Amino acid sequence: MPASSTPPLLGTAAPGWLEVWLEAGREGRIFTYANPEARAIGVGDLVRVRLQGRPHTGLVVATAAVCPAAMEGRTILPLEAVLQSAAIDPHWQELLEAVARQCHTGLFRTLKSALPPGWLGQARRAPAGQGRILWTVRLNPDSIAVISHPRQQELVDHLASHGGARLLRDLVHEAGFGRSLIGTMERRGLLLKESGRGPARASGAGATPLELPQRASPAQAEAMAAIADAPPGQALLLWGVTGSGKTEVYLQAAARELAAGRSVLILAPEIGLIPQLLDRCRRRFGVAVIEYHSGMGDGERVVAWRRCLEATLHQEACLAVGTRSAVFLPLGHLGLIVLDEEHDASYKQESPMPCYHAREVARLRAHQTGARLVLGSATPSLETWWRCQPGPQGWPGDTRLLPLPERIGQRPLPPVRLVDMRQELVDGHRRLISRPLMARLEKLPERGEQAVVLVPRRGYRSFLSCRSCGEVVLCPHCDVALTVHRGPRAGGQEGREWLRCHWCDHRQEMGDRCGHCGSTAFKPFGAGTQRVMEQLATELEGLRLIRFDRDTTRGRDGHRRLLERFAAGEADVLVGTQMLAKGMDLPAVTLAAVLAADGLLHRPDLRASEQCLQLLLQLAGRAGRGERPGEVLVQTYSPDHPVIRHLVDGRYGAFLAEELELRRQGGMVPFGRACLLRLAGPTASGTATAAAALAERIRPALEEAGWVLIGPAPAPVARVAGRSRWQLLLHGPGTAVLPLPHDSDLRRALPPGVSLTIDPDPLEL
Ligand code: ADP
Ligand code: ZN
Ligand code: ZN
Repeated sequence: MPASSTPPLLGTAAPGWLEVWLEAGREGRIFTYANPEARAIGVGDLVRVRLQGRPHTGLVVATAAVCPAAMEGRTILPLEAVLQSAAIDPHWQELLEAVARQCHTGLFRTLKSALPPGWLGQARRAPAGQGRILWTVRLNPDSIAVISHPRQQELVDHLASHGGARLLRDLVHEAGFGRSLIGTMERRGLLLKESGRGPARASGAGATPLELPQRASPAQAEAMAAIADAPPGQALLLWGVTGSGKTEVYLQAAARELAAGRSVLILAPEIGLIPQLLDRCRRRFGVAVIEYHSGMGDGERVVAWRRCLEATLHQEACLAVGTRSAVFLPLGHLGLIVLDEEHDASYKQESPMPCYHAREVARLRAHQTGARLVLGSATPSLETWWRCQPGPQGWPGDTRLLPLPERIGQRPLPPVRLVDMRQELVDGHRRLISRPLMARLEKLPERGEQAVVLVPRRGYRSFLSCRSCGEVVLCPHCDVALTVHRGPRAGGQEGREWLRCHWCDHRQEMGDRCGHCGSTAFKPFGAGTQRVMEQLATELEGLRLIRFDRDTTRGRDGHRRLLERFAAGEADVLVGTQMLAKGMDLPAVTLAAVLAADGLLHRPDLRASEQCLQLLLQLAGRAGRGERPGEVLVQTYSPDHPVIRHLVDGRYGAFLAEELELRRQGGMVPFGRACLLRLAGPTASGTATAAAALAERIRPALEEAGWVLIGPAPAPVARVAGRSRWQLLLHGPGTAVLPLPHDSDLRRALPPGVSLTIDPDPLEL
């Protein structure tokens, strides 16, 4: 049911027919309703309609002057009520349509992915008007900003005579202060605005003193000027080595936009990085920072979403900070989007569809709204770096490179030293922790210094195998080895070992016998964070340790609590998985070490080298950020591996150039395009048959368009959580459009129980 036109928001002639998106069934659908009373309704309004006799909340996604179904004489139900006008704006709709197109899926799935979970449900419970947030405006007792206008003084006096705070509504409607005046004072930190009417939370950010901008280094100043002068919609890559002050550039660029009345969106790849970023934003800008990520409850996310809508409605500029999904926040008059750590794979949604990359969505959004896009990283992705190269014909060259080549205060980047583990073995040292690493860890406490130690895997041991037949103990539901964990689990005993699947979270006891040969002897292999902790504790008595992995950082403040303890000097060493390489800025950390770099090096994937070098350079970037110089120690059995060589040389640019040449020769991304179709079903044979049928169905159009179809083949992990997985890999020329039918058409042809995901531009092949 395509709509014939998409008129602007309110104020035009009332449309006769509405295309309304309803959350009906698992898929949701778009239905047509009539607007008999000629109400002023536009795209983006929330309405109440009936479907099969039951009331539903729906979103108007298009309006039309004519309706084919009605002309055919079919009955079209009228809408019942308008729940909220302009719940989303037209730009947002365009954005979603573009994302849906790029990701080869429908608008419904895209909407569902973009909206906060439960948003429609919430809207149903809060009809028009009541859904509005109550804002309280209060004086900021810690403000150091200067009052620059008599009207500002009047507002300050007025608030003071009301005990320091009043509802925004009353300030505007009763006392007659303008929203723009309040907005300006809020941005300058004179006032704080909080949702609700209650008193300020005792420990709330209202107590945080505002921090002044740093005096920019020459390189920072140049980058800031380039951002300020960039034409609307321009993308810029801020390539700054670790500790070069990228965040300061983001904050000052943000301050500029906010002062000009435009909104700012800052994204980080992981929840673990949000608290630090929020703190810095709040210290700089006061409390008016909107937080949005999947670590928040549904209700909180709905509130954040509403705050964006409110701000847009009242033409107020606001600052939002969040993870991947925050790229969809409905902020109007957006001036700046920042993606910190733009190379990070967490920006990619793997499932469910749409399999979008927040960086690409941000590019679209910047293009549509005229916002500048700043992509920041110490180790930019090959793709983004490539887009900065003027290069030969056919290279985009559409992103501007802004380098920050030095750390703040000219602090040197820490030197990287290798420990050849083969030599350790030859010398009869068989421990996990090499002698050079021991020697350095030992000295930490007396020097008052700290270290971070990266262990690629959590748990106690990587896997367990049978001493007699060599069979590895596998998960009963997945084709992967179970990891040995130690310590209490539900009903388990302290110190006891048990097995766990890191894919489906299946847990089981160790078992007495090998399921294959009946032997009772097992042999554990590899070391996880738990075992490293144990070894460090026994070999270096008195060294204080904190484990930092997915098992110990659960819950909303898990990361923050552990990092705060470490920052406060409660431990000498932080032992953790990859999450410890990211973003942490702790001046006492002088040593960064990797225990088993080999586990990271040998992965059969297009981006394995790139991702591994990024991780190791990020980890190296944690050391020596304060006054004292830092050092990086890498334990490896492959000291000659190209990634290790580039790590030691610290020349990431040289790596990118080499890698790009390899990709060019192989016609791979970004010189070619890839697309992965993933199928999953209850049985291996059923899924394989479905994959083969799908391949035959799409092959003719693909081949005609110059694409190559590889497969179907079982996925690298062929079974997860009891579902068999097959995949089709498509390769095409660089600029080629992917000739695939709509995903719902493809899905319709699949047997029941078999699911399909289309992942255009997959990160892992
Ligand atoms: P990056 O994000 O590039 O790793 P950060 O933004 O975390 O770097 O900055 C590293 C450190 O340098 C931080 O402690 C920050 O406060 C400090 N810093 C940044 N810019 C300046 C500046 N212009 N003058 C002084 N200190 C600065
Ligand atoms: Zn056996
Ligand atoms: Zn499993």
